[in-house]
Amino acid sequence: MARPPLSIEDLVAAYGPRLHDAPPGGWEDRRPPDRRVRTHCCFCGVQCGIQLKVRDERVVGFEPWEEFPVNRGMLCPKGVKRYLQGSHPDRLLAPLVRTDGGFREADWPEALDLVEAGIRRVQERWGRDAFAVLSGASLTNEKAYLMGKFARVALRTKNIDYNGRLCMVSAGAANRMAFGIDRAANPWSDLPLAETIIVAGANIGECFPVLTDYLWRARDRGARLILIDPRITPVGRTADLVLPVRPGRDSALLNGLLHVCLRRGWIDRDFIAHHTTGFEAVERVVREYTPERVASIAGVPAVAIERAAEAWGTARTGMFLHARGIEHHTKGVENCLAAINLVLATGKIGRPGCGYSTITGQGNGQGGREHGQRCNQLPSGRDIDNPEHRRLVAERWGVCEEELPGPGLPSTQMMEAIHRGEIRGLLSICFNPLVSLPDAEHTRAALEKLEFFAVIDFFMSETARHADVILPGSLHEEDEGTVTTAEGRVVRVRQAVRPPGKARLDWEIVCDLARRFAPWDRFPYSCVEDIFRELRHVSRGGTCDYYGITYEKIERQHGVFWPCPELDHPGTPRLFEGGRFYHPDGRARFHAVEYRPPAEDVDEEYPVILTTGRVVSQYLSGSQTRRIGPLVEQYPEPRVEMHPELAARVGVATGERVRVTSRRGEVILPCLVTRTIRPDTVFIPYHWPGEKSANRLTLRALDPVSKIPEFKVCAVRVEKAP
Ligand code: SF4
Repeated sequence: MARPPLSIEDLVAAYGPRLHDAPPGGWEDRRPPDRRVRTHCCFCGVQCGIQLKVRDERVVGFEPWEEFPVNRGMLCPKGVKRYLQGSHPDRLLAPLVRTDGGFREADWPEALDLVEAGIRRVQERWGRDAFAVLSGASLTNEKAYLMGKFARVALRTKNIDYNGRLCMVSAGAANRMAFGIDRAANPWSDLPLAETIIVAGANIGECFPVLTDYLWRARDRGARLILIDPRITPVGRTADLVLPVRPGRDSALLNGLLHVCLRRGWIDRDFIAHHTTGFEAVERVVREYTPERVASIAGVPAVAIERAAEAWGTARTGMFLHARGIEHHTKGVENCLAAINLVLATGKIGRPGCGYSTITGQGNGQGGREHGQRCNQLPSGRDIDNPEHRRLVAERWGVCEEELPGPGLPSTQMMEAIHRGEIRGLLSICFNPLVSLPDAEHTRAALEKLEFFAVIDFFMSETARHADVILPGSLHEEDEGTVTTAEGRVVRVRQAVRPPGKARLDWEIVCDLARRFAPWDRFPYSCVEDIFRELRHVSRGGTCDYYGITYEKIERQHGVFWPCPELDHPGTPRLFEGGRFYHPDGRARFHAVEYRPPAEDVDEEYPVILTTGRVVSQYLSGSQTRRIGPLVEQYPEPRVEMHPELAARVGVATGERVRVTSRRGEVILPCLVTRTIRPDTVFIPYHWPGEKSANRLTLRALDPVSKIPEFKVCAVRVEKAP
């Protein structure tokens, strides 16, 4: 049983989260730093450049890094305060082993012996696949690559997946289906060249804040900005047009935009004929999506649909951006395909100022999905069930192809597998499923059923409280490596300081474990760059080809865009130039999309739609940012955003508490009454655990292709709390 060994109150008292407000030496300490280290902010896929100031081997502050071209010195609140993690009192400084009365400190040999024994016990009794690995999309490329190889070559389990399953997988699947490659089509520098920009389900101002600057630069040049979102998020407040789509109806709305473009002749027939296939089926389907019909489905006025289509269809250049708002659905892939259909049909791709991007939310959301830590994927985006891909990777790893497991379970289905008894043991790194996964009580019950659970982390996350052994790993600024930004640019993360106490580098911990299960020469690395060299070699000729990227070239060019197939290749900032796509015939694929309703719609008992998302001062499950005082001060606890019309019906004003109930559970939280949300919808940010967790309410329904949960729509009841 893996119940927490202490009460939550006792665990919080011992391991946090506690707020940390000041750098080492306090705010009054004006001594100059010993050195400045150029690296990147870890808190979103923009990966802003930053200089960390180091004194006495501790990070004491930061300075802008103005030469890095993506953010030119700018940072958002998370970037400004991120360094306060380094000297945090909650930092795990030694391995911890569960006891009857809590956790005790252990030395490394004992802790690794216990993890090895726990894995062997589970695998010998229940089979190799009964032990699963959960990994993360905030890890560096090197660590993402290592985790996939660790699971498949050392543990030989098929069950490895990552928390990007909650993030970019719908867009990734759609990108591969349509384009044959999964990467943003354009560098951000193309944004200011667009005459029209559509932002669909992307809260850029809060989740990717520095990207706002690119929208403003486009606006300064006269670009029209259209927001598709049930909430008027910060960038929407200066938009030309907001389409306040009813949650779960995005594909109908996108079909409606294409319908108008078709009817008005704003279609690039030449581009379609020479560079795509499958348009006829799309044309047939979208003919039925008249603005009037779409208005009744999506809750957006027909005249607004006509205006948005005109702004897009008549523009010479245009960029379409989206994020989790259209992706976190049981039809997330279809929503993305409907967006791609609009882009392809109007020929707005592969040229300066013309393109399509999904904005990855996690720090290494892009690279984290390329290097083989997904349940169905080998390095370089290769398919684990493709015989040729398996043969090639096995050869480059020096293993027999038969030794490589087949496809495993996505992380969103692992909890069910634990409940069924198919998975009995787990190793987790960079993932806090108790806060992140939908239907939190179901996740808690699954964790309590595990026979062995090990965690690698630098803080005691809510999930780590259930562990048998916790191995203290490394913070972003303690490790070397690379990450791939949301625009596809591979950048260098630099080590500013060593891990404190007995904490160790993640990759060293994983290699130590791997060598207990596999011959040493399968994991022969003596530094991170050794892993990167192998990654490059294994990726050669694959879709995500990193072969021509070296640490030195990254430094020299301020990052290198993949694909970069040769050492003398400069990288590929803009994909699809000349209308050449990555399917074997060079053509992009249209996919006809019929609108389907969400998995759980409103009814008399649960008449309000709940949608969830992020706030600017918090990152994902909050395990890091809920410990940083100035960030918590900005937004101390989740609030239920609701429109004044709904607030009047419920009988509450801002600050009063409401009970929000779904078929899975309930939360009681203060409300925020605002006109920036649809009257039929409430919004709750998801960064908090326990009684404040939005994921007590969400449901486990998944997209059939990407297996992403439907975080953006479920039915709830809202009442004034007693
Ligand atoms: S925009 Fe993203 S990468 Fe830049 S400072 Fe903010 S959180 Fe960090």
